[in-house]
Amino acid sequence: DPEIIDGNAVAADVREAVAGHVETLAAADVTPGLATVLMSEDPASETYVSMKQRDCEEVGIDGIHVEIDADAPASELYDTIDDLNEREDVHGILVQLPVPDHVDKRSVLRQVDPEKDVDGFHPENVGRLVAGDARFKPCTPHGVQKLLDAYDVETEGADAVVVGRSDIVGKPMANLLIQKSPVGNATTTVCHSRTEDLDEKLGDADLVIAAAGIPEFIDGSMINPGATVIDVGINRVDADTDKGYELVGDVDYDSASKVAGAITPVPGGVGPMTRAMLLYNTVKAAGLQRGVDLDLD
Ligand code: NAD
Repeated sequence: DPEIIDGNAVAADVREAVAGHVETLAAADVTPGLATVLMSEDPASETYVSMKQRDCEEVGIDGIHVEIDADAPASELYDTIDDLNEREDVHGILVQLPVPDHVDKRSVLRQVDPEKDVDGFHPENVGRLVAGDARFKPCTPHGVQKLLDAYDVETEGADAVVVGRSDIVGKPMANLLIQKSPVGNATTTVCHSRTEDLDEKLGDADLVIAAAGIPEFIDGSMINPGATVIDVGINRVDADTDKGYELVGDVDYDSASKVAGAITPVPGGVGPMTRAMLLYNTVKAAGLQRGVDLDLD
């Protein structure tokens, strides 16, 4: 049987560590603050933001939430970000994506003060990550790295395949895995929608990171026996449940878990880690801005 990589357990450890950093900050008279900005009526986005606010409360981070009408002019969002950039009680700013079509996402990401950019999406922070001098690692790939570390998955010299090349998961994930650093040093292949023979690439992989957003499309027959399988996918599929749907990963868990050496479930794998790493980045931001050394990566 494969080792089941328990994201809830590792995320709880991260939150406990974060709560300790909150105490260290409190001793220096600093209460970390995270601002979330929502410009959308999408119910999923609303849920994500309220979860993030609840997570903050649980560890002693001040949550500040701003909502902007989805049909308001883009300038309203820029002005809001400018205000939050100036506020001393706000150390982290997160603009919930996606923003409406009439708002240019890239401009929004550039507007956030890079020292408050706890998502790590500002080009300055993307550049620093690629250069091996990350300030804020994006939450999902950072969370995956913490999972690999917690379960002593050997990445050095391993053949890793990242499936997906998005700016928020695939690209930063691959960049972390190739770094000359702990939980890095992997020989990393990035696959995407134009990849010709995914089966062949996966067949040689010691480590698979699935982030394509396609329900259960990687099955056991594609997995190299003994490989570590990290399933980032969170996909809604119709199901006979109260809500009328259920969440499944990009990996077909039943067949993949018969061949994998270790595997993350969905839910309960990467999802809780993403949430925990946002808190981690927020205390890191507060420490950096207020000169409190917390020694975080
Ligand atoms: P995205 O839609 O931005 O990117 C999907 C990527 O998959 C693209 O780069 C595309 O080239 C690639 N792809 C599409 N079809 C493919 C195929 N047949 N073979 C190989 N690659 C293919 O998605 P995203 O934002 O990176 O998210 C990916 C998945 O991860 C989604 O299910 C999303 O819900 C989930 N997600 C989970 C978390 C978490 O916390 N667990 C965080 C972010 C995203």
